[in-house]
Amino acid sequence: MEKKTDALVLKSTDYRESDRIVTLLTAEYGKLGAAVKGVKKAGAKLRFAAQPFCFAEYVLVQKSDRHTVVSASLHNSFFSLSEDLGAYYTGCAILEVCDKLTYENMDARKLLVLAVSSLKELEEGREAEQLARFLIFALDFAGYPVRAEKCPFCGRELKGRMRFDLDGGAFACSECGKGVPASESTYLAVRALLRGEEIPSRDGCIRALRLLKTFLSKHTELDFPALQEAISIIEE
Ligand SMILES: [Zn+2]
Repeated sequence: MEKKTDALVLKSTDYRESDRIVTLLTAEYGKLGAAVKGVKKAGAKLRFAAQPFCFAEYVLVQKSDRHTVVSASLHNSFFSLSEDLGAYYTGCAILEVCDKLTYENMDARKLLVLAVSSLKELEEGREAEQLARFLIFALDFAGYPVRAEKCPFCGRELKGRMRFDLDGGAFACSECGKGVPASESTYLAVRALLRGEEIPSRDGCIRALRLLKTFLSKHTELDFPALQEAISIIEE
């Protein structure tokens, strides 16, 4: 059976002498693994299709439960990400989050579109903002939406010290809220991201990144080492 699908390479590992196994985030079939054969031989046509970040239309052949890439037509290699350390690590964090939030045969089209547009924006810089925006929408995709409006309990406008509920994903005032302490700058950054507005401060954006990572780890019960690394580099 042949499958044709747009896909982004999330991971790539060596396999046998000259093959690679790629983990693809596809539009139609969720996440799946596929072999790319002969890519380490000189002049291999499909070498590009076995690189992380490659976004292409893949043609896959399935035999029992194994997929092999038979051809690929490149949309974007995001090559320029490798020229900047911060952008590269941020890109790796985006791939890691996609990998951990997806499985085979799910509808991952929304996440694929989000990841590809985030990588494109990332080529223009502004790593902290792009990563925070990606995380907010990836969390929503995964069923863990974040809210930053008035206090959900008393309805007051939120100012000063407040709390963020790591279970429910909402900011609340410090009087009625439970959860971890959060600063106003974190709240304003998350609110701006949700509203599609400019983030008012870099400090707030970085604090928001840390909070979103904690929230993501708690709900998925997974570690995100590449995300941690990207945040550390952005903080420098
Ligand atoms: Zn309140």
